[in-house]
Amino acid sequence: MKIVILDGYTENPGDLSWEGIEKFGDLTVYDRTPEDKVIERISGAEIVFTNKTPVSKAAIESNPKLQFIGVLATGYNIVNVAAAKEAGVVVSNIPTYGTDAVAQYAMALLLEMCHHVGEHSDCVKAGEWTNNKDWCFWNHPLIELAGKTLGVIGFGRIGQRTAEIAMAFGMNILAYDEYQNKALESDRCRYVSLDELLANSDAISLHCPLFPSTEGIINKDTIAKMKDGVMIINTSRGPLIVEADLRDALNSGKVAGAAVDVVSTEPIKMDNPLLQAKNMIITPHIAWAPKESRKRLMDIAVENLQAFVNGSPENVVNK
Ligand code: NAD
Repeated sequence: MKIVILDGYTENPGDLSWEGIEKFGDLTVYDRTPEDKVIERISGAEIVFTNKTPVSKAAIESNPKLQFIGVLATGYNIVNVAAAKEAGVVVSNIPTYGTDAVAQYAMALLLEMCHHVGEHSDCVKAGEWTNNKDWCFWNHPLIELAGKTLGVIGFGRIGQRTAEIAMAFGMNILAYDEYQNKALESDRCRYVSLDELLANSDAISLHCPLFPSTEGIINKDTIAKMKDGVMIINTSRGPLIVEADLRDALNSGKVAGAAVDVVSTEPIKMDNPLLQAKNMIITPHIAWAPKESRKRLMDIAVENLQAFVNGSPENVVNK
């Protein structure tokens, strides 16, 4: 059986092993594949794995041997699942692997906005402490989270885990979700309308998927409804935020700080409005990427392939 991995590098830059997949057949791993090379590279392969490389209708139809596409991620919008279904090709994804890592990262971004740890350390190394008149100094307002309110938009797996950690820091939670599970409510955590969340949160963390209904959910109108000096965190998907509107709100001081791991176009373009914003932290889509989380992703990819080979595919997204 011929197996091709189109873009293996981000999942396994060398600290994990492909042997779990290799045992199923003749494996070729490409670090990256340009879109115009997909058809050539999957030619004759029964099994194809992709992380972010698009597998189009034309690519699927070009290879009559293709049986299974394993997506090495949760989001599978890069695969034309309808064309795959038409061609009888099973597409599986990895629904959960990084809940703890992404929730931890959302808190890391919030904590960075509260303390600016990296920047203070850089100042010390640059001699600012040595030359300081007092025994301590800080360059930004320092913020204590206990007693403050975190608004969580999208109260699914990652949103709930983020809320649990935030509650351990003494925060109260306002959750907004299309579907409500009242069992998750407590005296420190309750569901509210989006407007109530916007009006009462000291920090807002985005954890809903990118759907037409959520695209641009943070825009000048919703920002206007927020508290002055709010902090915004996005570890979900870049297009949830109208970036020019957030830039303006940061530069006017309406939003005190924002920290995002995702932007509208990735890798980020140098004309992205967020690069012109004050008090803005941007990281290169790494919330998912601790080794523990990538190992879990790898294990589930192997389980998905095993289940397919056994004739009872799991995590199928194009039934
Ligand atoms: P999940 O499906 O468990 O939770 C998503 C929640 O959003 C659900 O409760 C759903 O009801 C809710 N939702 C859907 N539409 C909504 C709407 N219109 N308004 C409000 N809520 C709505 O997903 P998850 O595992 O918690 O992941 C959340 C998101 O995190 C993913 O969609 C993905 O975009 C992102 N993610 C990012 C990284 C990263 O590395 N930065 C890694 C993994 C996931």
